Amino acid sequence: MVSFDEARTTILAHVQPLGTESVHLLEAVGRVLAEDLVAPWDMPLWDNSAMDGYAVRSEDCTTLPRQLRVTGFLPAGARADGVSIEPGCAVRIMTGAPAPPGCDAVVPVEDTDDGKETVTLLQPVKKGQHFRHRGEDMVAGLAFVKGGTVIRPPEINMLATFGMALAPVYRRPNVAILSTGDELIELGRTPSAGEIINSNTLSLAAAVREAGGIPRIVGIARDNRESHRKLMTEGLKADVLITSAGVSAGDHDFVREVLEELGARQVFWKVDMRPGAPTAFAMHGSTPVFCLPGNPVSTMITFEEFTRPALLRMQGYRAVHRPLFKAVLRDEQRKKPGRTQIVRVRLEREGGTWYASSAGKQETAILKTMVDAVALAILPAETTRFAVGDEVDVHFYGNHIDLV
Ligand code: AMP
Ligand code: MG
Repeated sequence: MVSFDEARTTILAHVQPLGTESVHLLEAVGRVLAEDLVAPWDMPLWDNSAMDGYAVRSEDCTTLPRQLRVTGFLPAGARADGVSIEPGCAVRIMTGAPAPPGCDAVVPVEDTDDGKETVTLLQPVKKGQHFRHRGEDMVAGLAFVKGGTVIRPPEINMLATFGMALAPVYRRPNVAILSTGDELIELGRTPSAGEIINSNTLSLAAAVREAGGIPRIVGIARDNRESHRKLMTEGLKADVLITSAGVSAGDHDFVREVLEELGARQVFWKVDMRPGAPTAFAMHGSTPVFCLPGNPVSTMITFEEFTRPALLRMQGYRAVHRPLFKAVLRDEQRKKPGRTQIVRVRLEREGGTWYASSAGKQETAILKTMVDAVALAILPAETTRFAVGDEVDVHFYGNHIDLV
């Protein structure tokens, strides 16, 4: 039996980022960049105007009102070669257009009489105003995004700005999902007495997908060694294997035994937590194997706390746990010393404080409470009683939370 914290640390000590691949920018959002990206050129690539107005020499504009002769026009996309500003002259220029030689300031149209042949400046001009310098955003040869960065639309914009259509990212793990149990039937049939629909495979596949992995459904291993052997051998071909059920000490619990027979090394079995105690973690070569309890609530919570962080780490994420924040309890909670208790809660924010109330009955067999919970409160091992008004750590459960 290991503690909840030990279990989490141990798992992360056994996994590392998988290999890398190059994906198109549209596939890259949310992925982790596998290497530093270096700017191939300065950005902006030329001095240019930050306003629609007139490119001027600031030294020509010291007395007001000042009249300048307009000797050219530079719209966006124009080239500045051949255009220059002689003393006493200005060039009409649009935002983003290259600044012509001699220009060291741009006077916005609003600060002039908007003249075509000649222009009268109505406001004082400061050297460098509304003038963007080559390389002021990024300099060629410097890293503009570091490896390990999670790619968001701004990173995509910068890659595209530098002409990069592909992003080198850590690849997604293939995650085999294997259910076990003689009572299970597949979705599509109405269960008769004693039968249970294999719902875990579907919620696990969904959770794998939400965590960035690629679910590979292996099927149902029946409660005999041969069936376990066959499907586990198949499942071990993936980057990660998740099994559900058959991991307690029941007569028909073959998961750990058969895994060992197939050459896996058990790292731990049983975690001092509720729900989720009969969880096992093993390594088969470099393949992590998560043996999660079969009770759907326990399966989802142990996936959330143990498997999800591992899948994220395999994809190169550094921060793999959901951020914890404090919430004030609205219900009393009691538990055994030494055990980490995970409570399914609803959250409300009032006057800048989060309040957590129980989402329903907390027995592990109550699936509806899981549906009604937006967050999980993690009651630490040491404390045995939490009063109304006590603060506890909580984290959201799910990637998109609707707090209504
Ligand atoms: P076990 O660990 O095999 O004793 O299973 C624990 C509980 O989880 C039993 O009530 C099972 O019927 C239920 N269960 C096991 N596997 C699944 C599954 N794939 N989908 C839904 N419930 C399951
Ligand atoms: Mg079973």
